[in-house]
Amino acid sequence: MAAKAKQNRLARYQSKRDFSRTPEPQGARRRAAAGRRFVIQKHEARALHYDLRLEIDGVLTSWAVPKGPSPDPSVKRLAMQTEDHPLEYGSFEGIIPAGEYGGGTVMLWDRGRYRNLREEKPTDGRDMRQSLAEGFIEVWFSGKRMRGGYILRRTHDGDRPRWLLWKMNDEEADARRNPTASETKSVKTGRTMRQIALGKTQWKPKAKREGKSVKSEA
Ligand code: MN
Repeated sequence: MAAKAKQNRLARYQSKRDFSRTPEPQGARRRAAAGRRFVIQKHEARALHYDLRLEIDGVLTSWAVPKGPSPDPSVKRLAMQTEDHPLEYGSFEGIIPAGEYGGGTVMLWDRGRYRNLREEKPTDGRDMRQSLAEGFIEVWFSGKRMRGGYILRRTHDGDRPRWLLWKMNDEEADARRNPTASETKSVKTGRTMRQIALGKTQWKPKAKREGKSVKSEA
């Protein structure tokens, strides 16, 4: 695929970080896109938020959602689009050192696959790139905590576009659930934010970490 184009799309992500100081992935590794992944990372930086990331064209298109997703269709959540992240970021959990960009604790709160509902409608047929450009995304999540249809609608353009995220009214809608409050452990390691912050399992050298991530993604 167009590796150069992909590298350019990650330029902003890479320019904000010193990879000799942070354990976050640099995004140099390339691999064929294998379906569409999504991930939500709970991120305790200056302010707690949830980072929603959708795989689109070989990178993770990203939004910071201060209050996180809600399965209640009447609740719309602010989602601020941030820089595209490399696919490898989808398995990152750990500590970004204080003083570095986004310094704080990162938990893998949910992950799985998603479907593009617009593309599945014959009268619509928009792919994810088109949906993103139009500022209107309809996706179906098959995660552990994110399930069913969700809508993302862009409300403000600019350097950091603002969107709203809300649940579609389908069989997975549930106004009584509040998963950001009830689900407080990592979907990958079962650790709490505090356990991750205490570094119970320290960041491992790259070779070991990749070996582990390949296994857990199988
Ligand atoms: Mn974040």
